[in-house]
Amino acid sequence: MDTIRHLFRIGYGPSSSHTMGPKHAAEIFHQKNPGANHYLVTLYGSLAATGKGHMTDKAILEELGEDRTTISWQPDVTLPYHPNGMEFEAFDESGSVTDDWTVYSVGGGRIDDKGDRIPPETVSNIYPHRNMEEIQKYLNSTGMNFWEYVEECEGSEIWNYLREVWHVMSDAVDRGVRQEGVIPGGLGITRKANLYFRRSQLTRDGFIHSTPMSAFALAVSEENATGGKIVTAPTCGSCGVLPAVLRYFQKKMDITEENILRAIATAGVFGNVVKHTGSISGAEVGCQGEIGVACAMAASAASYFYSGTARQIEYAAESGLEHHLGLTCDPVAGLVQVPCIERNAAAANAALFAAQFVMFSDGSHRISFDDVVVAMMNTGVDMPSLYRETSEGGLAKVYRIPCGA
Ligand code: SF4
Repeated sequence: MDTIRHLFRIGYGPSSSHTMGPKHAAEIFHQKNPGANHYLVTLYGSLAATGKGHMTDKAILEELGEDRTTISWQPDVTLPYHPNGMEFEAFDESGSVTDDWTVYSVGGGRIDDKGDRIPPETVSNIYPHRNMEEIQKYLNSTGMNFWEYVEECEGSEIWNYLREVWHVMSDAVDRGVRQEGVIPGGLGITRKANLYFRRSQLTRDGFIHSTPMSAFALAVSEENATGGKIVTAPTCGSCGVLPAVLRYFQKKMDITEENILRAIATAGVFGNVVKHTGSISGAEVGCQGEIGVACAMAASAASYFYSGTARQIEYAAESGLEHHLGLTCDPVAGLVQVPCIERNAAAANAALFAAQFVMFSDGSHRISFDDVVVAMMNTGVDMPSLYRETSEGGLAKVYRIPCGA
């Protein structure tokens, strides 16, 4: 498995697959063809269906230049390799094609051209184990915890990177809880994090967990929806879940930064396993691969804070994903707002529940983390494309934007 640096990508919202990935692809194509007379970029499948709301065109035009780039939207054509396909063409003055490149945005900001010209960023293979079962056997035999495993595989330099990750996450929480106003895009959605945060200061015991947790998750998700700087965990759309849980424990239990970094490393192992044995792409498997995986990662972090054993941590992550199986991706108007923003708050609270639930057990459970990833993939394959980031089904179909909004 690859380094967790490629799971936790620092960048700008609102979408890892629809903004970060295409922007990176456009950058590579531009570097190879700086003198092109003009460019044609064709977006296929899910990228075309929800690209306008996800600001895919803006991300590409920023790299290639608005004055010499044409975007062609082909939502009804899906390339066989992955639903998020794009084709870049460069033309000379006579109108002849001088370069042509097909590439896919496969989730979490990663792009893949089947080995054509992308440097081998995706295959560092620094983790020797292929799935959670193998990792757990190794941990059992060595007595290591998940974060020690990460340090052994990545080297001690990983802590500097995870510190940067945490600071970007934490800054997004701080910015998000201060902001007020309407989120751009046309839906008229008002930022709620500030309100929730202020109300969390007033609430009694019944709301003591859920209100600040929700405020932190909303803060980061609203930052993402407005194009703010965030960290994919595992994606942009689900980037509020893990930071919310981390900040919640930091406040609640006075957790040190060192332990927060260890919790991020722990969460990274689970996200990485799904990324390499399943999918973290909403266009491929629906929201279970984004919010479901984010919940699993955050549940493992919470379980680490509760001093869970490796077995309990794995159970918490499994539970976090299991109870999101079948979750569809149906963003209204193609924007990463409804249901995405509130869904981050729901999943952060679910992660806390999963970790607490598991702490009362001895860690034994029937469905393993690897099993639930297989179930997620099977469910995603069986899911009609209506529910895989095309904005053609579910909430996106029933909701009508009010006149004048
Ligand atoms: S519904 Fe889920 S998978 Fe789809 S864009 Fe929103 S957060 Fe991402």
